[in-house]
Amino acid sequence: MTIRGNWDIESDVVIVGYGGAGAVAAITASDCGARVTVLEKMPAGGGNTRVSGGGFFNTTGMGWTTYVEALCFGATEKEVIEEFVRNAMKNKDWIKEIGGQVEPTLHLQVSYPGPAPKASFPQLPGWEFMEKCSVKMVDTEAKAERLWKLLSGNVERRPIKVLTGAPARRLITNEKDEVVGVMAEKDGQKIYVKAGKAVILTCGGFEYDEGLKRDFLPCKPFFAFGNPGNTGDGIRMAQKVGAGLWHMPVTSAQLGFKAPEYESAFIIRFFTDRFIYVNRDARRFVDETKIEVHSIAWVTSVFDSQRFRYLHIPTYAIFDETARRKAPLNPGNSGFNRTLYKWSSDNSAEIGKGWITKGRTLAELARKISVDEATLEKTIAKFNESCRIGRDGEFGRSREALTAIDAPPYYAIELWPCLINTQGGPRRDKEARVLDAEGIPIPRLYSAGELGSIWGFAYQGSGNNGESLVFGRIAGRNAAAEESWD
Ligand SMILES: Cc1cc2nc3c(=O)[nH]c(=O)nc-3n(C[C@H](O)[C@H](O)[C@H](O)COP(=O)(O)OP(=O)(O)OC[C@H]3O[C@@H](n4cnc5c(N)ncnc54)[C@H](O)[C@@H]3O)c2cc1C
Repeated sequence: MTIRGNWDIESDVVIVGYGGAGAVAAITASDCGARVTVLEKMPAGGGNTRVSGGGFFNTTGMGWTTYVEALCFGATEKEVIEEFVRNAMKNKDWIKEIGGQVEPTLHLQVSYPGPAPKASFPQLPGWEFMEKCSVKMVDTEAKAERLWKLLSGNVERRPIKVLTGAPARRLITNEKDEVVGVMAEKDGQKIYVKAGKAVILTCGGFEYDEGLKRDFLPCKPFFAFGNPGNTGDGIRMAQKVGAGLWHMPVTSAQLGFKAPEYESAFIIRFFTDRFIYVNRDARRFVDETKIEVHSIAWVTSVFDSQRFRYLHIPTYAIFDETARRKAPLNPGNSGFNRTLYKWSSDNSAEIGKGWITKGRTLAELARKISVDEATLEKTIAKFNESCRIGRDGEFGRSREALTAIDAPPYYAIELWPCLINTQGGPRRDKEARVLDAEGIPIPRLYSAGELGSIWGFAYQGSGNNGESLVFGRIAGRNAAAEESWD
């Protein structure tokens, strides 16, 4: 789309998407002297960043490059990874520079609260060059809320124009194919925003775009925990000006519960080991306590070509009365539903709603969730026997995580693969420039954050917020340094 004159808003740098990456880019570009306009589609900013776990990483040495290279499995150029790691060494300092206090955060790497490994993949060399942090809390507020308050507070203190309820629709190019502005909508009207220097796309992933999920993700369906505004708009806008894509099938995802009444799914976590996962054949299929917490797609993408269905979708978590009373299955500290619904402390309200199924016996539970009664009874009997002898011969669950499921009544909750976020999007280089299908930078177009993140295969927890901090700064700096096109 091209336009001459008639701009509604004039700025040097236009940022599309007001989440973490957008805020970091805006602060940086503004501090470099650029006039900045931020466009946000939703009524308020924050995106996934605001409903995340709030963790970000800081690297402590270039040794982390080896680890990230292994995680990316050849899908991200070494020079991009090196730039990422080098800049991530300044994440903590940058948060302090803008007025935040930083504290170390414990790693949550598996969905069960046993002894947690120190990194998502500690079997790979180089993981130790990373520290996981969050913005220090002064009260009980969610960590991500604190991160967002710090970022948005800094945006508000600068001369940055933020338009909410203003979805960007198209990138505007000139006769030299440079990106010179954005067409957006505000109050039902088209508005044209000039970017004298550059546009930065920070509008998140495609967690809520059914078409892109269907085309690119490794299993179906895929629900999502985060911001419903993340519908892959940045991918389509970038494609229209020639962008190449990368990392489209890569997800950060775990099992969750999807209630029909809510657009987003609920994170489900057990604070006891008295649970197992079974599939539709009522059989266990995994060590439930060792699934890396962002990597469920590797488990749920197993497809049975004979019966033509995903073997483990949906999954049923089976647990007993002791587990039911132990803690709410939804911890309530992250996810878009965080402020919309409070899960009851003993899960009783959710039983009442039919979200959790109850059976006086295992046979009754099996009937209610439509799995084979005898198989479910056998599966639980076998698991309980493993608990008795202290050895899980089937899946190697550790002795410390083997407590029998033997206190009736019994319960089941249906779980689905749910996106924490997607990683795919427009390909970017180490300068945060968006590259075209041949790897050539598209003039004056940058990106940051989970929209085409560097994570090319596997993901290290706290790596997306960490990336927003890194590429938000790189994109903001480089966009502001462009010569004006007019
Ligand atoms: C439950 C949960 C827990 C998580 N925990 C962690 C964690 O602890 N650590 C970590 O590193 N990562 C975590 N993540 C992932 C991380 O939060 C995200 O990947 C990161 O916040 C992405 O930042 P972003 O700025 O790229 O995108 P977002 O923060 O999602 O911001 C994108 C913004 O763009 C807006 N937008 C979309 N389309 C348009 C358009 N057309 N025009 C204008 N605006 C548009 C969206 O509404 C949104 O506000 C978590 C995610 C979730 C959902």
